[in-house]
Amino acid sequence: MTMRLATTAIHVGQDPDPVTGATVPPIHVTSTYTQASPGVHKGFEYSRTANPTRIALEKCLAALEGGEAATAFPSGLAATTALFANLRPSDSVVSFGDVYGGTYRLLEKVFRPWGLDARYTDDPAPEKFDALIDKTTKLIWLETPTNPLLRVIDVAAIAEVARARGVKLAVDNTFATPALQQPLRLGADYVVHSSTKYLGGHSDVIGGAVVCKRAADAEPVAVYLNSAGSCPGPFDVYLVHRGIKTLAVRMDAHCHNAFALAEHLVGHPALARVVYPRLIDHPDHALAEKQMRGGGGIVTIVFAGGFSAAKRFCERVKVFSLAESLGGVESLVNHPAIMTHASIPKEVREARGITDGLVRLSVGIEDVQDLVEDIDQAIG
Ligand SMILES: *Cc1c(COP(=O)(O)O)cnc(C)c1O
Repeated sequence: MTMRLATTAIHVGQDPDPVTGATVPPIHVTSTYTQASPGVHKGFEYSRTANPTRIALEKCLAALEGGEAATAFPSGLAATTALFANLRPSDSVVSFGDVYGGTYRLLEKVFRPWGLDARYTDDPAPEKFDALIDKTTKLIWLETPTNPLLRVIDVAAIAEVARARGVKLAVDNTFATPALQQPLRLGADYVVHSSTKYLGGHSDVIGGAVVCKRAADAEPVAVYLNSAGSCPGPFDVYLVHRGIKTLAVRMDAHCHNAFALAEHLVGHPALARVVYPRLIDHPDHALAEKQMRGGGGIVTIVFAGGFSAAKRFCERVKVFSLAESLGGVESLVNHPAIMTHASIPKEVREARGITDGLVRLSVGIEDVQDLVEDIDQAIG
């Protein structure tokens, strides 16, 4: 039976425990597995290599994204590392410029010294990616919507470029989640997640995953995990899996609240700009309508009064918490220039529109009226 997303999220990898009938499978807290005779076992030998709790999550993630296989990692960046580490020195990656700061740092501080070249385009047009590809290029990397400016990149069009040039395409789907877009169905080869964000959804765990369209591509990812030792623990994968069960309803609520808040803020005299993909004046509005089932839970606002107005707002919110990260049930505000994006040089940051007056809202699933009132009192 092919199940729809909300059903998949609850049932895949959640078969009742065959021993006890426990409806929710147990967390397998074990490092090792007892063998009947040397080499005779039930498919598990050592929990770095495989653990039933992790496999349950991996099955669910693969089904949600429409891939043949998934591999869970202890963080989003560990998942990202697995894909870059499977390239070779003197290969190159073509990436969108405005990617997650940690991805940029990983490419520049870890993989460039190791021999991997990274090239960036600040223009998301497919021909700009195409122009940076040469015979050393093995992977295109992109993230959509981007952080914090929420540009939407045309996954199907870039997948076309990747296919024509014989290069793989990886999409970081952390912001949209499979509830809003499934990049593998649009032609991507890999989806990467920071499950710390919407998948886990409760700001209580760090996790990541690589989902592969083809099982053959997942094999080197699993070999990397086992060889490099990048394995998530059973409690953490359990928390991510538990969070995923409510992904569909949470994403609906995030989208609803974020859109309502964005519409409420449009035209506010204290704000120079309100950015949300579903707003009619968003530069990628038409593409967002086509590619995404909702606008997501992030709203970015730019204060007309610059840094001092943004700082005052961040200090005054009460229901929102001033904190890094995003994607949890609770609403957060973040000042990217000082917090999440501080490692990007000021000129680069400003050229990308991440000014000192910009604030990113991760809109949670509280009552939207309380969020509106909190924002109003904090701006006012
Ligand atoms: C947080 C984040 C990451 C990194 O994930 P960690 O779990 O913090 O390692 C990667 N990409 C995006 C889009 C993120 O928001």
